[in-house]
Amino acid sequence: MVLNTIKDANFNDKKVVIRVDFNVPIKDGVVTDDTRIKAALPTITYLLEQGATLIVMSHRGRPKGEKNPEFSMAPISKRFSELLNKEVKLAPDVIGSEVEELVKSLEKGDVLLLENCRYYNEETSDDLDFAKKLASYGDVYVNDAFGTAHRAHASTEGISHFLPSYAGFLIEKEVKYMAPLLSNPQKPFVAIIGGSKVSSKITVLESLVNTCDTIVIGGGMAYTFLKVQGKEIGKSLLEDDYIETAKSFLAKAEEKGVKVILPVDHLCGATFSEDAEPVLSEGEIKGDLIGMDIGPKTVELITSEIKTAKSVVWNGPMGVFEFDAFSKGTLEVAKALADCDGITVVGGGDSVAAINKFNLASKISHVSTGGGASLEFLEGKTLPGIKALEK
Ligand code: ADP
Ligand code: MG
Repeated sequence: MVLNTIKDANFNDKKVVIRVDFNVPIKDGVVTDDTRIKAALPTITYLLEQGATLIVMSHRGRPKGEKNPEFSMAPISKRFSELLNKEVKLAPDVIGSEVEELVKSLEKGDVLLLENCRYYNEETSDDLDFAKKLASYGDVYVNDAFGTAHRAHASTEGISHFLPSYAGFLIEKEVKYMAPLLSNPQKPFVAIIGGSKVSSKITVLESLVNTCDTIVIGGGMAYTFLKVQGKEIGKSLLEDDYIETAKSFLAKAEEKGVKVILPVDHLCGATFSEDAEPVLSEGEIKGDLIGMDIGPKTVELITSEIKTAKSVVWNGPMGVFEFDAFSKGTLEVAKALADCDGITVVGGGDSVAAINKFNLASKISHVSTGGGASLEFLEGKTLPGIKALEK
């Protein structure tokens, strides 16, 4: 997968329509976490240094096709301007004559932020007339919003039909780290998949089993697999409908010679709650206990695999890390990733939240900026927003 990137084009005196992911948390009209805005700054600064004029677009929340000021980009515009240390003009709308006039009046180096592109249903339906209007604002299109790359929307896919299209640095980095995991990873390659549900992770398991040497299955989904192996799992999470799927996955892994690691010990609680007293269960889980984290022996099994790995991908926490008493398994795996000399990639909303909670993000080769998008990427699906940027 080779992308057209912003290093491949000349942006001097060009009007650039750029899609970013500025969908940030806001409270009382103030941005409370500006990570995503900061993440887009390298691309934005680069384009400005190259002599471009920018028309920036993003969505915020789900206004469902209505111009609802609750979802306005105004608070984001303010923070964006502070971080960029430069005036950012906020357009009163996404399309229409007023916006067109504003775009015409832009001078070299100006930055205009459009209103929330999801003020229009045409955005999410990938309406080509709407996309054409967005495209009419500029000479080239740049996409740096990995988090929405799995959606074929007007601002992520449609627009690329009308303008030469390039990947920004963020998308370039995502693909640089994730694409090899599906084709030719540095070996040994260890995949660690956890989280709550088999149903949401089975496709990624089935994709990674083709390239990994070891696959670790942890978190709530592990119990369905343990059940397949005839183990008692107490009242732990079980997806009855997925027993057959889990069974055939294990058979497939064996056929391919992929080592599968399932939890051998567990931290359990009598109730699924923050203040449940952690009880260590070796092997099986008896009675009404609920498995809520992996135990120390399992941690040891996983960390020793990570130590010798040349590449590791991690998606999905090993336990209910939101509860302190059951966060240790996830923390230890995160620490092992941070200490690993190989290439380490973390994707998935909750896994990334865990890495951030433990302050370990800077020690990971690549922390994905897209939850759903990174999952779909690892599932081997074609992401419309990425396909639009391929050479
Ligand atoms: P990600 O967002 O990283 O892809 P998921 O959304 O698949 O991860 O799963 C995260 C959720 O899984 C967390 O809320 C966590 O509490 C839950 N989870 C992990 N282990 C267990 C468990 N043993 N029982 C119930 N829920 C679990
Ligand atoms: Mg999640």
